[in-house]
Amino acid sequence: MSVVAGLDRLLPTYARTDLTIVRGEGCRGWDVDGAEYLDFGGGIAVVSLGHRHPAPLAAAHEQLDRLWHVSNLYRTEPSEELAALLSARFGGAQAFFCNSGAEAVEAALKYARKATEKPGVVAVEGSFHGRTLGALSATGQPGKRAAFGPLIPGVRFVSPNDIEALRAAVDDETGLILFEPILGEGGVVPLEADFDAAAAELPPLLCLDEVQTGIGRTGSFFAFEQLGVRPDLVVLAKGLANGLPIGALLVVDDAARAFVPGDHGSTFGGNPVSCAAACSVVDAIDEALLDNVHERGAQLAEAAASFPGVASVRGRGLLLGIEVASAAEIVDAARRQGLLVLTAGENVVRLAPPLTVTAGEVGDALEILHRIFC
Ligand code: PLP
Repeated sequence: MSVVAGLDRLLPTYARTDLTIVRGEGCRGWDVDGAEYLDFGGGIAVVSLGHRHPAPLAAAHEQLDRLWHVSNLYRTEPSEELAALLSARFGGAQAFFCNSGAEAVEAALKYARKATEKPGVVAVEGSFHGRTLGALSATGQPGKRAAFGPLIPGVRFVSPNDIEALRAAVDDETGLILFEPILGEGGVVPLEADFDAAAAELPPLLCLDEVQTGIGRTGSFFAFEQLGVRPDLVVLAKGLANGLPIGALLVVDDAARAFVPGDHGSTFGGNPVSCAAACSVVDAIDEALLDNVHERGAQLAEAAASFPGVASVRGRGLLLGIEVASAAEIVDAARRQGLLVLTAGENVVRLAPPLTVTAGEVGDALEILHRIFC
């Protein structure tokens, strides 16, 4: 239920549920009528530390009181601090900041074109990289692309984990290989370490889209750390600032140099408030939190795999997909019982709770899911 009446004034780009969440705390949210929900969607894998986590809350408040915006014509402390923190996590990288995952992918596409002077991109079927025309062009879901052509030319798609197809798709015009370590929107499909390694060995730049898998979600700061590869480019967004808008392109220090002043930009990119919040999120991703991601992920995955009607449980850490007959039915039933979960395609229920979720909260969520499945 909602207390306002502006729904028909929004362009209908989302099939919104008639549920208005007005307050959040940790892993829980409350609607306008005071009903409580366990949030195992995390705003689509965004609220990485939980709603109103004290660290990003304090950092954002403090920055709001000092400076909101001054433009990229000047230096700002939060953006430089965040770039340094992300570089340290990567092991030496430079950052470009923007406001969303799609924008970060656009930056990667432009970077690769300039650095390699080659327009071709190889991406993966079923992938999702965003809704802007460049990111959409590399999104391996024909239904999402169909109405918006002509898109950028030169993008080839290969099946997930098909190393031979990957090698065959790369030619002299390919400047970039782009994929998610785990296909998120595309059904929570992990790509195998061999596939990642094969991509890293090929001549084009390798960009990993860690918009959904990054910032601790799979149990390491970057998902690629568990795959034994080191990409040339990484894109981040979603969980980086715990819900404030931000996106980032990271370019490893030894990649070919491309951007010079004037090549790329974003008025709001590197916003001091978002960057201040993001610094505190990055600081919070420590061993104890990553252990929690592994443990709570295992707790969820083991229990979910035993429910009747579950064909498989895929994913890593706290990005999990439960393969079922109808994901929408489970999502609706869960919501009616006070649990928010996501779909990832028609047959996968996706779980992406805050990384801070407790064993007790996972137990509560499993109890609801048990009632639905059993
Ligand atoms: N890349 C991946 C892997 C995503 O999951 C998403 C969004 O779901 C995007 C890119 C696009 O991010 P945004 O919606 O912030 O533009």
